[in-house]
Formats: sequence, C-alpha cells, structure tokens
Amino acid sequence: EDSWAQAVDIQEAANTSQVNGDEVDLAEQSLLNKMIRRSLVRNRNQVEVLQRDPTSPLYSVKTFEELRLKPELLKGVYNMGFNRPSRIQENALPMMLAQPPQNLIAQSQSGTGKTAAFSLAMLSHVNRANKWTQCLCILPTYELALQTGQVIEQMGKFCPDVKLAYAIRGNRLERGMKLQDHIVIGTPGTVLDWCTKYKFIDPKKITMFVLDEADVMIATQGHRDQSIRIHRQLPKGCQMLLFSATFEDSVWRLAEQVVPDPNIIRLKREEETLDTIKQFFVLCKEKEDKFTALCNLYGSLTIAQAMIFCHTRKMAAWLAAHLTKEGHQVGLLSGEMTVEQRANVIERFRDGREKVLVTTNVCSRGIDVEQVSLVVNFDLPVNMDGSADNETYLHRIGRTGRFGRRGFAVNMVESKHSMDIIKQIEMHFNRKITKLDTSNLEEME
Ligand code: ADP
Repeated sequence: EDSWAQAVDIQEAANTSQVNGDEVDLAEQSLLNKMIRRSLVRNRNQVEVLQRDPTSPLYSVKTFEELRLKPELLKGVYNMGFNRPSRIQENALPMMLAQPPQNLIAQSQSGTGKTAAFSLAMLSHVNRANKWTQCLCILPTYELALQTGQVIEQMGKFCPDVKLAYAIRGNRLERGMKLQDHIVIGTPGTVLDWCTKYKFIDPKKITMFVLDEADVMIATQGHRDQSIRIHRQLPKGCQMLLFSATFEDSVWRLAEQVVPDPNIIRLKREEETLDTIKQFFVLCKEKEDKFTALCNLYGSLTIAQAMIFCHTRKMAAWLAAHLTKEGHQVGLLSGEMTVEQRANVIERFRDGREKVLVTTNVCSRGIDVEQVSLVVNFDLPVNMDGSADNETYLHRIGRTGRFGRRGFAVNMVESKHSMDIIKQIEMHFNRKITKLDTSNLEEME
C-alpha cells in the first residue's frame, strides 16, 4: 500500500510540469480561481483590439452608464460593487452590445472580468417578452456552470422576469416540454442533448452563443466536438462569443471555426519578475535538517506570512504535521482535497488565520496571495528529466509589475543535484542566489 501511495505521489509530482496534460486539473484550477477571487486581477498592460472592420469607429466605455443598459440591470451591476468597467470590459462590452451584432474572441487571464462581461451581455440581450431560450452559454464542467450561473443570477437580481436554466447532468426535464428560460447555461453534452435529442431548446432561435473557458474545453476529450456540433445547429446570424484565458494554436483553431469574422480582444498577462525578490539557498542534509533550518528561519524573522512548497503530498503532510507540533498555525493544500476544501484553506490563509501555507505544486498553480513575504522551496521545482523548472520557480516566487512588494525566497538544498538546480536557476534568470546560514541570519535583514 505504501508503494502505491508513493506511486501516486510521484505521479502528482510529475504532473507539476504538465500544465496542459491534465484536463481535470485545468477545470479544477479554473474553478478554484473563481471561488477564491474577490476582485479584479491587476493588469496594467495595454488591451489589444483587432476589429473585423478596421474602418468602423472603435468604441470603448469608461462607465457603465454609457452602455445605456436597462436601469434594473445597471442596478444589478452596481449592486455587485462594480464602479467602472474593467480593462477588457471597456472594449468588449460595447462590441457585445452593438447593433448589428458582432462576433468576439476575447483572451485574458483569469480574473480580468470576462465572466462578468458576457453575463452582462446575455442579460442585456434577451427579449423578455419572448418566452424561449435566446442565449446559450457552454462551459467545461458542472461546477463551472454553477459558478458562472451564480454571477448571472446575481447580476440579474433586479431583473426577476429574466429566467435562467442550467443544462447540467442530473437536471431532468419532462419529455416534450419547451424551455421558456431566456438564458441556458450548461456543459456541452447536456446542452447538445437538450437541443437535439430532447428538443427542450430550439437551437434555431438562439441569437447569442457564448463559449467560455475555451482553453479548458478543448483540453477535454469530446467537449470540442460537442461544442462544434452545438454550433452547427445555430442560425447564421447568431452572435458568437468565445472566451479563453490562454491562446494556444488549438484554441485559435476552435475559435476560428466557431466565431466567423470576429473582433479580437487580448490582454496580455503581466510579466512576473524576480527583481524585487531576494533569493537565498540553505545547505541541508536531509528533511529533518531542512525542517530545523526552516524553523530557525521562521523564528528569527518578522514575517507576515510564508508559503512553503513541497514536491509530494507525503512530504507536504509530513512538514505540516511537524510545523503544527512546533506550535505554528499551518494550512495544508494537497492534491487529494476537494476544490471546496482547497478554497477554504486558501481563504483562511488569506484572511491571516494561518501564517504558514504548506502546499504541493499542483495545488498552488494560479494562486496569488499578495501578502506573502517569504516563499520557501522545501523541494526545488524540477522537470521530469530532473532539470530546473524555471517557469515554476518564477511562478512561485515572482511578483508582477514594477510595484510588486519585496519578498524573500529561500531554497533548501540537500544534494549535489539540488545545488546544480540552483546554479541552473541562477544562470537562467541571471540573478544571484546567495548562500544563507540559518544559524546566523543577519544577511537577510
Ligand atoms: P474572469 O471571467 O476573467 O476570470 P470575472 O468576470 O470572474 O473574471 O471577474 C473577476 C473578479 O472581478 C470577480 O470577483 C468579479 O466579481 C470582479 N469584477 C468583474 N468585473 C468587475 C468590475 N468592472 N469592477 C469590479 N470588479 C469586477
């Protein structure tokens, strides 16, 4: 049994360097991001806009009033605490609301306001007098559909006569019925069934189609084909909107197939940098030794919060248990936890209820906890071939933007191999990683 657990551990470790290989992880990561996010992600980059018709004027709005929304919808927007459109919303909203309808492909990292944008567009688009489904929105998983549906419900709080239905597994309707809900949100399989097999929805009456999380969608076997099959049922003039956090070639190919003559909006992710980070390494013998070094380090610094990365679940659990025994308030993120459990741990950490967060790499992807001032690589990030995983290293300790807070990164080095990795990382980023003696910590101050 032990060797099985070890195999799982190794598998998890291996997955750390496979960003796209693991479809479940992508959808889960996206869900986790949505669950823990409370505000817009800061991004000072310029929005790139490519218009289908470059001669037509480019509209952008600085306020929600300029969109001339129905008053009860505007009220819903303000009630969510939105004061003004986000960067991508400034351009995306006027395009999505324009007459005649325009198609749109939009790409920006998670947290920049895409969901809010298309939710608003759908709510604004429906003609309430027409008692049939007019807007169709598809997402990769049940949970993501629920999460996004909640945004629509919240935004449409003051539009009670706009109806929303969920086309997700387990949601059974009476045979032969025709849906009267204006908006349907769901996963591709169920939406396809509802349109073709059960005919709850007449796809020919759909006038707005939203494909969200396109990058996650195509990572899942079958979803891509189902999306295209749904798309084929839709009438020619249907407004097509596609959103994605990333833009590999495969996403592009789907986008081009599903969204003819599009406007394109892109907001590049802000680069991460090591400029404001002081990097150190500590020479250790084995894990007990690393643990002692960690305690010395933590005990002698006035640190707000620390995040500690381990290679395997087993190591993370071991470390968390030992830190707890030493009297630290520790949160643990590990692969076997549900998304809800992970969201809970992250929220507690963010609220400062725990000062230390121990995590395996898989779980930490995408989490940005701004107040963390110390990052410890209890195990160094390595690729499957044993070389330094520079990208993950940067992800763990890098900060975005010129005004990123200062921080410390400490790397535990326990072998010649891990020393080699430190050298590789130093070379790659051309930044010195200084040796640190944890029994003498003056160097850090
Ligand atoms: P994405 O779909 O790109 O991940 P979301 O639409 O989920 O982004 O928005 C991310 C977070 O920012 C959410 O908490 C959302 O409520 C909030 N948000 C979205 N638009 C605005 C806005 N215009 N002003 C303030 N907050 C916003």
